[in-house]
Amino acid sequence: MLLFTPGPTPVPEAVRLAMAEPTLHHRTPEFEAIFKEARESLIKLFGMDDAIMIAGSGTAAMEASIINLCKGKALTVNAGKFGERFGKIVKAHGKELVELKYEWNTPASVEDVLKALDEHSDIDTFAIQVCESAGGLRHPVEEIAAAIKAKNPNIMVIADGITAVAVEPIDVSNIDILITGSQKALMLPPGLAMLGLSFAAIERIGKGSGYYLNLASELAKQRKNTTAYTAATTLIIGLNKIFELIEKSGGMELLYRRTAVRSKALLAALQAIGLEIYPKAPAKAMATIIDPNAEDIRKLLKTKYSVNVAGGQDHLKGKIFRINNMGLIETNEMLWVVDSIESALADLGRRVYSGEATKIFSQTLREELA
Ligand SMILES: *Cc1c(COP(=O)(O)O)cnc(C)c1O
Repeated sequence: MLLFTPGPTPVPEAVRLAMAEPTLHHRTPEFEAIFKEARESLIKLFGMDDAIMIAGSGTAAMEASIINLCKGKALTVNAGKFGERFGKIVKAHGKELVELKYEWNTPASVEDVLKALDEHSDIDTFAIQVCESAGGLRHPVEEIAAAIKAKNPNIMVIADGITAVAVEPIDVSNIDILITGSQKALMLPPGLAMLGLSFAAIERIGKGSGYYLNLASELAKQRKNTTAYTAATTLIIGLNKIFELIEKSGGMELLYRRTAVRSKALLAALQAIGLEIYPKAPAKAMATIIDPNAEDIRKLLKTKYSVNVAGGQDHLKGKIFRINNMGLIETNEMLWVVDSIESALADLGRRVYSGEATKIFSQTLREELA
């Protein structure tokens, strides 16, 4: 079975093997050296002033950001499951919430954000997804963040980049916390949450809030290459291996380029066989198709072609399917995926199979990489 869900993504064999080594104790010079290497790679990946790793799924980093940065009132963007989650976290901690709601295919706009800030001058924190994975939607985060900082540099900007970090370069000039998680573009098992921090964020955090998710106590430890609580040693060993694999395959810049080109080819191939792209601004992390036969296609992909893609949630359940485009993906595997989708459409009597999807996919790759 080919795993093509936009998280979890398949873990490369070399990484699984690296993680199969006997357990290391986390309070040892050996592990501190491993931690230091991971920390330095992460700071470079985020392009930010500092970084923190937490044992927890991506949501732990979302919650840590809110409790440590938001002192009173937060503005969040809800254009899907993950944006909605920021709002729920804000409320769970008894903070005030202003939420901008959008249909799941519609990106947030600078105007709406500025208007909300005008109406609520006491907002101190803004939170948004770079890619809202519920609909594969790319928000114009960099543009929104720049407008917020131009208006009021004291407002902290949290960007959930769980399906954007290591997918595409992100301009972090106006971002205070950038979040990622292990099981998406970083191709690891779930369980490691990571945050990039600006100096302004570190200043705002001060002594920190919360206990397990107190970013001040974590940062103090992590700057000494250790952790406040038991580190996710196995995942951090895996993370170093991932960075090594990416380097061996040509480096992060090439990964970004390959991801962008493959995204373009994938969308072109799907459109060429009559499918409709759901988001108005598609993210590079995945392709999201809205289709009356979404569930039939997904079922055929799984049972007949051994391809596992994700469906939709809530009101989009049964209406969309999502194909992963994150990580080091073999071209032949993606060719099989687009071919299987065309075959499934033929099975459903929607078109006569002609190999159009693989043709357009390969053609676009060749043109782009020429
Ligand atoms: C996967 C994901 C998360 C985190 O989910 P966890 O299940 O807690 O790892 C958060 N935001 C986005 C955009 C995601 O895709």
